[in-house]
Amino acid sequence: HLTIRNLKKSFNGNIVLNPIDLDVAQGEIIAILGRSGCGKSTLLRCINGLEEIDSGEIHLHGKLISKPASNYAHWVEVRKKIGMVFQSYDLFPHMNVLNNIILGPMKVENRSRKDATQAATKLLERVGMLDKKLAYPRELSGGQKQRVAICRALCMNPEIILFDEVTAALDPEMVREVLDVIKALKNQGLTLIIVTHEMEFAEKIADRIVFMEAGKIIEINTPAQFFNFPRTVAARQFLNLPV
Ligand code: ATP
Ligand code: MG
Repeated sequence: HLTIRNLKKSFNGNIVLNPIDLDVAQGEIIAILGRSGCGKSTLLRCINGLEEIDSGEIHLHGKLISKPASNYAHWVEVRKKIGMVFQSYDLFPHMNVLNNIILGPMKVENRSRKDATQAATKLLERVGMLDKKLAYPRELSGGQKQRVAICRALCMNPEIILFDEVTAALDPEMVREVLDVIKALKNQGLTLIIVTHEMEFAEKIADRIVFMEAGKIIEINTPAQFFNFPRTVAARQFLNLPV
């Protein structure tokens, strides 16, 4: 259970999260929607400590996780539980697929190479990438790289995965293969917080839609309600519905 209370964040006096309150239940799938610049990425980055928050609190299972960025050991522990996948699949270019995936489990969780390789092999099989396990990132398509990035996050056995527009940099024909991998994570007990511009995908996968505008959550709704009968004018405009 993730709890965000009164979270505020600004950059150089420019208020970006103003404030945010959100509860995410374990196993829940949340899609965060909103216009460019409304603060979606910043919110995700605050949740796993890539940005230091100005004020407010973030709790995971009742434990305070929003501590100063200087508390590096603390955030290493948090990031074992909260993984993140970015728009720019940031794989290590000098490592093959397998080594990209097992690095975290070995370094951070002290798992043996054998054990981590076994887990990685299972994950690669699940996403149809086992035949590429010795390939280097430069030899992969964008969709393939993103599937590897998802395996890398999963291999840490996180409770929560944050997805920040993971298909935004992909050619259209590769979007589906990545979205299908994420869809297959539904009903596995994982909590997913997904920032996306893929509306159909959000409607299908999410338990709840969180709609942001100018650093605030202004609507939380079921997908069926949100996409057909949004409560706020801003959401209607965002969806190109008559206001
Ligand atoms: P998009 O849909 O385009 O990805 P977003 O909703 O993810 O947008 P954010 O990236 O969270 O938006 O940015 C919110 C605001 O914060 C923007 O005005 C952005 O310019 C600003 N911002 C984000 N990161 C920084 C930073 N490191 N330094 C200064 N300003 C920043
Ligand atoms: Mg963003």
